[in-house]
Amino acid sequence: MSFMPIDAHNHLQEMTHSVDVEALLCVCEEAGVTLMAVNGTSEEDWPRVLELAGRRSWIQAALGLHPWKLHGRSDTWKLQLKKWLEQSNAAVGEIGIDHWKLDKKDSEQEGIFLEQLDLAHELKRPAVIHCIRAWGRLYELLKSYGPKVPLQLHGYSGSAEEIRRFEPLGCYFSFGFTVMHSPREKLRTALKAVPQERLLLETDAPAGSESTAEAIWGVQGNLGRLYSYAAELLNVTVSQLEARCSENAARLFGRF
Ligand SMILES: [Zn+2]
Repeated sequence: MSFMPIDAHNHLQEMTHSVDVEALLCVCEEAGVTLMAVNGTSEEDWPRVLELAGRRSWIQAALGLHPWKLHGRSDTWKLQLKKWLEQSNAAVGEIGIDHWKLDKKDSEQEGIFLEQLDLAHELKRPAVIHCIRAWGRLYELLKSYGPKVPLQLHGYSGSAEEIRRFEPLGCYFSFGFTVMHSPREKLRTALKAVPQERLLLETDAPAGSESTAEAIWGVQGNLGRLYSYAAELLNVTVSQLEARCSENAARLFGRF
């Protein structure tokens, strides 16, 4: 049985300062990784994300201004973002709202999130959404917005009930390593509630994970462990789950 996972969300560009990029990409290829979505978070890293996507066809770029990076933006951030998006097939992301690190009264974050959602609509690109402790507010915003592009709720940490509310809005639900480690059942119950055609798995690397490519994407790495864990929860085989997630990622990112 061959191992062919996808990594629906990471920040590979943050790891390439200190290591040999080609060696890192080879580890992923040897492990059979068939698609990886690499997300930019600020003006500085958008060109680096596109450079990585230019190296391998299995790298899907996403470009956006992350809520944690709002305050470092320049006056021309939006023009630059639009320019990079137009020159590529990148998705819009990582964008979103955060009531954990940022004050919820910080209305700037919602404005900037919606401006980038507009850009995704204008250019017909999917959007990758970060949300921490703001699921109720995110739902209100999206419901009134009426999204017409697919959305990836990355690092999903909401409830099973919320999945049923977000699903009709075109959302995909992407789970990371916390599903394996959380002391609470909530996240595992949520994963089981995701409709088959909306499920994704991700590393979010290098955030909160091992520092070497081998330990994350390698044959014995954490991504493989996540697939085995989720397959057991869902009562399917690892290959069935890999096939499902890879079809879902291809549909989300419009890659056929
Ligand atoms: Zn991320």
